[in-house]
Amino acid sequence: MNTIKTAEILCVGTELLLGDIVNTNAAFLSQRLAELGICVYRHTAVGDNPERLKAALDSALASADMVITSGGLGPTYDDLTKETVASRFGLEMKLHEESLERISTYFARTGRKMPPNNEKQAMMPVGAHVFTNNYGTAPALAVSAELSDFSEAGEAQHKTVIMLPGPPGELIPLFNEEVVPYLRERSDSVLVSRNIHIFGMGESAVEEEIKSIMTDSENPTVAPYCKEGEVRLRVTAKADSEQEAARMCDETVKLIENSTVGRFIYGIDTVSLEKALVDALHRHGLTVCCAESCTGGMIAERITAVAGCSDVFLGGCVTYTNEIKQALLGVSGETLEKYGAVSAQTAMEMARGARERLGTDIAVSATGLAGPGGGTADTPVGTVFIGLSTKEGETFRKLSLSAMRSREYIRIVSASNALDMALKAIKSLSNN
Ligand code: ATP
Repeated sequence: MNTIKTAEILCVGTELLLGDIVNTNAAFLSQRLAELGICVYRHTAVGDNPERLKAALDSALASADMVITSGGLGPTYDDLTKETVASRFGLEMKLHEESLERISTYFARTGRKMPPNNEKQAMMPVGAHVFTNNYGTAPALAVSAELSDFSEAGEAQHKTVIMLPGPPGELIPLFNEEVVPYLRERSDSVLVSRNIHIFGMGESAVEEEIKSIMTDSENPTVAPYCKEGEVRLRVTAKADSEQEAARMCDETVKLIENSTVGRFIYGIDTVSLEKALVDALHRHGLTVCCAESCTGGMIAERITAVAGCSDVFLGGCVTYTNEIKQALLGVSGETLEKYGAVSAQTAMEMARGARERLGTDIAVSATGLAGPGGGTADTPVGTVFIGLSTKEGETFRKLSLSAMRSREYIRIVSASNALDMALKAIKSLSNN
């Protein structure tokens, strides 16, 4: 078995180099390959130029077991990926009858006559594994062979090139439906992953706390990813059976849950904070509402993006000015006067007002300075108060986010903190 352990991604298209399109294919392929336990060594983007494409292909093949290309499989003269790979592997091109049939059927289905140059797309390197592309006319294929010119000692090395069309609407389903089974068939082990979702602890702090778990073992691997205040740890185990890989993953997940990181974990294999919140509200038969100032509706938007939230989310108010905070939520003029709109007292009164008026078990609020202007020495940009009200009373969380952060970032992290506070409140309410 020639197990594929490493890969390079080679994206072909002059539009990529001109900045006309963003290389989303490389990001997608990297994520999926990581899930399959294949290490991606490098991304390269190259224009539709035969010499540079050949050089990039040689360089990628020299360092990785597999190269995945995207683009350059169209019917025109400058679509050169297939021909370049075939020539590198010393393979002749031959008409692939099934592909020709598929392309003509594709044209017939869309009510168009097939132009003669589309026949070029049915030419395949002899011995190629052809994937069925039901999403377009471009072919998708793999070639693999023992090549001996990449080792100084002239030793044969197994190399594979998978060629996929550029349009993401074709590349993504083709990868998921055709390439994943192809790679699995060529792997002698099974991979299982668990995603640990963490909120309230930064990436470097998480890494510091679980350094020994991360470095002590190569299998399972623990890889951190971070996004707007959240950290995700992906635990991936490789074993002979799915059961064994799952057991290894769960053992590592337990170790992390029992570490200091444990209390910041809001879910394992969940989708998002809001999904974890809606699920927990359902489980405990509780309801929530929100009162928002600087987040301008983001908390409500995120909760309502979760299907099935209508049983647990009753509503929310966007109360931007002091007058509206008073009129809709009953925040007192005295509080606003004495402590200001961006204060713990206002945040808590907003939450209390919302909970009393909307009649929920839990209410969260957010009031703060998202910037870029408006900061003072006492209340710099990035100061946000998150309020929480339950039958146990009111509490708050003060955020001091860096004023260098964008307005968008400050708003997103504020909304995430409100969701996190609501989630923690459920635990407290259900324990008492
Ligand atoms: P086609 O038959 O459509 O010509 P192709 O395999 O030759 O397929 P390209 O011509 O290279 O693909 O690209 C077609 C379109 O696919 C591009 O105009 C672009 O919109 C999209 N695309 C190509 N490469 C990428 C990429 N790396 N990331 C995201 N989109 C891409």
